[in-house]
Amino acid sequence: MQVNAAAAAMPPSGIREIMNAAWGRSDVLHLEVGEPDFPTPAAVVAAAHEAAMAGRTGYTPTAGIPALRSALAAKVRARNGFSVEPEQIVLGNGGAQALQASLTALTEPGDGILLPDPAWPNFAMMSALLGLESAHYPLTMAGGFVPELSDLEGLVTPKTRVLLLNSPSNPLGSVIDRDRMTRLLEFAARHELWVLSDECYDEITFDGTAVSPAALDTDGRVVTVFSFSKTYAMTGWRLGYATAPPEVAQVLAKAQEPLISCINTPTQYAGLAALESPPEVVANMVRAYRQRRDTVVGLLDEWGLPVFRPAGAFYAWVDVSAARLDARELALQLLAEEQVAVAPGTAFGRGGQGFVRLSLAASEETLAEGSVRLARLVERLAARPR
Ligand code: PLP
Repeated sequence: MQVNAAAAAMPPSGIREIMNAAWGRSDVLHLEVGEPDFPTPAAVVAAAHEAAMAGRTGYTPTAGIPALRSALAAKVRARNGFSVEPEQIVLGNGGAQALQASLTALTEPGDGILLPDPAWPNFAMMSALLGLESAHYPLTMAGGFVPELSDLEGLVTPKTRVLLLNSPSNPLGSVIDRDRMTRLLEFAARHELWVLSDECYDEITFDGTAVSPAALDTDGRVVTVFSFSKTYAMTGWRLGYATAPPEVAQVLAKAQEPLISCINTPTQYAGLAALESPPEVVANMVRAYRQRRDTVVGLLDEWGLPVFRPAGAFYAWVDVSAARLDARELALQLLAEEQVAVAPGTAFGRGGQGFVRLSLAASEETLAEGSVRLARLVERLAARPR
């Protein structure tokens, strides 16, 4: 009997390997996990509880309850700088499922997609499940970890249908500025590509340079995916959404019917409450991430370990190539010898060789100690004879 070849061939997650090895160990400094260390705001939890107690437990419209779609249209206008009607918003089961549904709506098997490398590994997995041919455009330290037009021009073929952008980036923390974004949209227009913009970290930015490609879109080619997971510390609630040009949103909503039918109903009310949170709820978390970033970057700078200063998201991408060890092996050795768990760069693609990702979703003390232990191990390995 046969199973789906792409699903069967999916490589195991390189982050999971470390997570599993470090699982339940209180002696380990956990810097591998990519989810906020804050609780979901109490008012959000209460809203879900109240909705369930009031009997709001049945199916909803596939694309989401009208009140939430209207509130999201207002959010997108105010915080992301572009205008959409509520009908152009379709909820997903987290940003992950909204991305998968968007790709389902935009592509046919055999189409090409341009993906970043390094990148969140799920992009390549979803592309494989949909039978897409992925080509990977490099993001490098020298280039500030943003896409280079010349690389994209070299990879695009007549079959390419989608350019996927992720700004702020997981795992890099890089942000694409307005000027480059404009040129990326021109590139997409030249080659008749959809732009699928993953902005799941849209509200976790530190310097104000992030821009939504949809805010610069002049011809309806941008689909944007957002999430409640990171902004409101709601990873387990599974709430995300896509905004799309009207014709695409209709197709997307239709595609969601067989995929999920609708989103968990109390979760939708939780989302509504999250959007009504006082601004300091998100601002306080962002302030904490920024402070932790400054601590980690400052410490690693002192140790002479090159680290990219993230402009968004909550990760520090550290160059450990001086250790002359495969990134996965280094992560395993760091866990064994220094009791620190980090994500090996190779979990995010070939371009991650020589790097590790530290998650800033940990206390400042844990991050400071973890950074020192990492730097210490790299120094030790760098000093060994060749
Ligand atoms: N996009 C990126 C870049 C991510 O890092 C993640 C989660 O780690 C997601 C999307 C999906 O998040 P969720 O499905 O929880 O909204």
